[in-house]
Amino acid sequence: MRQSHKIADRMSRLDASGIRKVFDLAAKLDDPISLAIGQPDFDIPDPAKEEAIRAIRAGINKYTQTQGTAELRDAIAAECKQEFPWADERPYLVTSGVSGALVLAMLALVDPGDEVVFTDPYFVMYPHLTNLAGGKCVAVGTYPDFRPDIQKISDALTDKTRMLLLNSPCNPTGTVYTEQELKDIAELASKRDILVVSDEIYNAFCYDRPFASIGSYYDNTLIMRGFSKTYAMTGWRVGWCTGPKAIIEKMTMLQQYSFVCAPSMAQAAAVVAMGLDMSSEIAAYKRKRDMVVDALSAPLGLVRPEGAFYAFVPAPDGNATAFAEKAVAGNVLIIPGEVFSESNTHFRLSYATTDEKLAQGLEILASLA
Ligand code: PLP
Repeated sequence: MRQSHKIADRMSRLDASGIRKVFDLAAKLDDPISLAIGQPDFDIPDPAKEEAIRAIRAGINKYTQTQGTAELRDAIAAECKQEFPWADERPYLVTSGVSGALVLAMLALVDPGDEVVFTDPYFVMYPHLTNLAGGKCVAVGTYPDFRPDIQKISDALTDKTRMLLLNSPCNPTGTVYTEQELKDIAELASKRDILVVSDEIYNAFCYDRPFASIGSYYDNTLIMRGFSKTYAMTGWRVGWCTGPKAIIEKMTMLQQYSFVCAPSMAQAAAVVAMGLDMSSEIAAYKRKRDMVVDALSAPLGLVRPEGAFYAFVPAPDGNATAFAEKAVAGNVLIIPGEVFSESNTHFRLSYATTDEKLAQGLEILASLA
């Protein structure tokens, strides 16, 4: 390699092999039934689209304030006021998606050697961003039922723990934490003075009980939510974060020197989106969840997912890669669990697709099992 193309050492801590395998599998297929996608199959609601177009025409195309427009931060603060006792005292930071908030939090908080605790299975970005920051990943297993085990989480905390990263509803398992589980985690975190980072991007996608946030029980929490999933705005890159002032201030400073701001027209559209009723889209996803449970419970014995739009399903013989290859041969794309976990016994199925494609895909998977 040319000396002038030398890559920074920190990049050697990132690894894309798991995802690459999935792309390699996908490349073999012309028109696959994809149950692999992490974004809604519905489109951005029309009023939000119209507002983005209006904003562009009205010249809202320049940098916004680093922390986000006042209109969007006010709308976010109003949402928080309904849920959190501390809402008035907190600053709000609009980010380039929850991904942006995660990057800012990791870089602002994690020093080399610091430990970041999260549950396994986990969202793919968590270990990679932890590694990028030079931190050490501490994955707490939740198999086989994917519930958080307080004792295991407690055992994972040390004096090097920098944050406890939660994700409910969870990608990839669909687990939604109960109020009691969150209260127990809050009590533990409070006793040990641990910062909780709560990735709540799927908060609208809860099917069996109302969404609960650990922020209601523990104010030493960084809350992250976004517009990508609820309003299908994945390409528009808007999310937000709120939490302890000293931390949000540093994240804001870092955003000033990196992302600068979230896209201006998308922030305008996000204000309108927040006023929209997405209940019919959510109800449709609940029905899709039921289709998955009905089709795969008997042949594969999955844990019923309660939220997000994923199921994490045991693979026959505990070999997810072998089953994913078999599925590809049957024209169905799923993701082997090793992409989201230290184990490879399960596969992730996304039901964010049309009912027709989902029914076809489920039939094929059930027959292969
Ligand atoms: N957090 C989780 C758990 C996700 O599944 C995703 C996207 O798949 C993100 C964060 C990133 O979302 P955004 O589009 O807001 O960056």
